[in-house]
This record gives sequence, C-alpha cells and structure tokens, in this order.
Amino acid sequence: MSLATLREEVYQLHLELPKSQLIAWTMGNVSGRDPETGLIVIKPSGVRYEQLTPQNMVIVDVQGKVVEGSLKPSSDTASHCYMYRHMPDINGIVHTHSRYATAFAALGVPIPCFLTGMADEFGGEIPCGGFALIGGEEIGEEVVKHLSGSRSPAVIMQNHGVFTVGKSAEAAVKAAVMAEDSAATTWLALQLHQLGTPIPIAQENLDRLHHRYTHIYGQ
Ligand SMILES: [Zn+2]
Repeated sequence: MSLATLREEVYQLHLELPKSQLIAWTMGNVSGRDPETGLIVIKPSGVRYEQLTPQNMVIVDVQGKVVEGSLKPSSDTASHCYMYRHMPDINGIVHTHSRYATAFAALGVPIPCFLTGMADEFGGEIPCGGFALIGGEEIGEEVVKHLSGSRSPAVIMQNHGVFTVGKSAEAAVKAAVMAEDSAATTWLALQLHQLGTPIPIAQENLDRLHHRYTHIYGQ
C-alpha cells in the first residue's frame, strides 16, 4: 500500500466515526501506519469531520514530527506515536469518546463481558486504564500497559474515552464500533436489575469463543 492509498483510507475511515455515532463535533481520531516507511497518517487537530479531505490528513514520523501537511496533527498524536513505537504489530489506532463505553470510563471500571459477541472480539472484558492528561505520551503509556499481553484490542481510559488498535486502521475502527455496541448492550442489561443480574461467561467458554472467532470465523 502506498502512502497516498493510506491517506485516502484513513480519510474514508474517519467518515465511519460520525456514521456509527461514535463522536461529537471534532472529537475522536483515526491513524494508520504505513508498514513500509513507518510513517503515520493522522487527523488534523480540531477540524470538523465535514471538512476533512484525503489531502488535509497529516503525515508524521513515529516520533510525532510532521513530515507532510500544513495543519497541526491531532492533540493525541504523541500518544498514538508512543503506542506505535511500543506495539510493533499494530498499524491502526482509533480514539473516540463514544457514549456508552465512556460511561464506564467515567466510573473507572472495565466493561464486563456478558456477551458472546464481546468474547469473540475482545476475548473478555474491556480493561480500564487510569487517569492521564491529554497532549503528551501519558495516555499512550497507559494504553500500552493495559493492551500488552491482552487479547482485547480496546481499552477505556478513566474519565476520558476509548482507544482501540488493530493490524490495520480498518481493524481498529471495527474494534471501536464493536466496543461501543458491546458497551451499549451491557449498559442496557445492567438496567434490568429487577429481573436479575447479567450472567458472566465462564473463562473456558471465553477462550473457546475467542479462538473460534479469531481462527475459524469468516472467509
Ligand atoms: Zn479524547
């Protein structure tokens, strides 16, 4: 894939965030890493989704230095770069404040796994990282700490929102959509306390479900 193709892809994937109702106003961002050059395509800071184009995406190196583009990169760039430097297998990152997942983040608790769809995609609960200030690498450090060695491609950050990773930018967007969908259904289930409490899935079944989904499911 050329850098021009990645620029187009990251632009197109940004459009999925408002379409899937994962963002408000200019919040949220997608980035993709070109495996050949190691360069990263990321959203420009504070630009409305309607005003994004393939051309105004910003290209930075893995240290966060702008290589191409006239706009400032996302304020989460230092954290994205930290994650790419410490997770060599990922080539895509998404950040949103999607509503239901972020409600769990406000409480600072992981999103528990009561659903087979969540076991498939995340292999269990979605972990919750601690509080970190925006702008530097602190968020990236916290995300790496929680995702390294975890099956989950998603983490929620206390008081903040959701970060997802993937082998491609598209895979990271898919994880962001699935994280919000799982969080919404889990939230709804937790409202039904007059009827009972959601039933956790046994660890052996989590393992089986996640294995089937990652090794057998699909074409
Ligand atoms: Zn944020």
